[in-house]
Amino acid sequence: MMNEILAAWRWNGSVSEPVPYGEGHINQTYALTVTSAQGAKRYILQKINTDTFKDPAGLMENICGVTDFLREKAKQRGADPARATLHVVPTAAEKPYYQAADGSCWRVYDFVENTVCLQQVQSAEDFYQSAVAFGNFQHQLAAYPAHTLHETIPHFHDTPKRFADFQRAVAEDRMGRAAQVRREIEFVCAREADYHVMVDLLAAGKLPLRVTHNDTKLNNILLDKTTGEGLCVIDLDTVMPGLAANDFGDSIRFGANHCAEDEADLSKVNFSMELFEIYTKGFLQAAGEAFTPLEKQTLPWGAKLMTMECGMRFLSDYLEGDHYFHINYEQQNLNRARTQFKLTSGMEENWDAMQKVIEKYC
Ligand code: ATP
Ligand code: MG
Ligand code: MG
Repeated sequence: MMNEILAAWRWNGSVSEPVPYGEGHINQTYALTVTSAQGAKRYILQKINTDTFKDPAGLMENICGVTDFLREKAKQRGADPARATLHVVPTAAEKPYYQAADGSCWRVYDFVENTVCLQQVQSAEDFYQSAVAFGNFQHQLAAYPAHTLHETIPHFHDTPKRFADFQRAVAEDRMGRAAQVRREIEFVCAREADYHVMVDLLAAGKLPLRVTHNDTKLNNILLDKTTGEGLCVIDLDTVMPGLAANDFGDSIRFGANHCAEDEADLSKVNFSMELFEIYTKGFLQAAGEAFTPLEKQTLPWGAKLMTMECGMRFLSDYLEGDHYFHINYEQQNLNRARTQFKLTSGMEENWDAMQKVIEKYC
């Protein structure tokens, strides 16, 4: 099987056995080395998760479009294009990926050397570096025609649709659990008007459609091994047209607190204004000039709506019998939902302070 896959590329030398690499959860990632008279060169080979991504051709078109664009931008500013973005290695048939006889889909990237990939934020500086990297991603792609991108997961951040799905889960109450989570259900329903704010601004043409990454975790950035600087944004499967506030907001949702996502003791769950400020500073220093005034003003909405979307998805899954998010114990999805609601309350209490932080870095 591996031989069939490797034979789809034109390698310039002898190819080593691919070995599992990294800590990704969605795709299967391998590293391999090609040795020739010129020396050894490493590559990343990935089996694309086609259960999650039903349109690998559209997905790879997005990735090639965005990485080609980033490479040109890197050249223009005198940066090393091989380290500023991923590079897709085409197959011998000049395709961006290979579909094997069993239907599985595979792609190859150049290995970006002399980098580190952190699994967890170890210091505020790491969080700041991720903000700079994702801010730069927005800045560099500001002129990219975002509407030409495929939606690799349709309706990904359609908050009103997420709410409609939630209401259906409550109405069906398949596990008979709704009665015990009335307070949480009311918390979600009380904010119904909020769910329309950003989609309405987009529909009215008041916010621009941007290239969004949609998985803005620390381990989706490669940091320069020597300087520690955020170098290259990776894991581009969920690149889609969207709102800048959504990428910002998702980073704040998971990064601007000190608790586990399923912390049962809610007294330990607190939205951190300090971490919010650190991320905002890095993100706006890198991307601020690319954003419109309204886009900047509405960044806190991204934080609140990404947190509420996540909370309602966890609660929906709890009501439906935990089919979507993997659980290790029975109430895990409920605990996860509760942390999101507590963080949302923290954002609401700090709403004016959040606006002031945005203004400070505008
Ligand atoms: P996730 O669970 O975040 O969705 P994934 O399964 O989609 O991850 P990737 O993030 O694309 O997988 O890759 C997994 C890991 O492989 C990365 O975290 C990184 O450590 C490493 N990696 C991926 N591409 C490269 C590359 N071009 N050069 C060096 N390392 C890479
Ligand atoms: Mg990843
Ligand atoms: Mg991924």
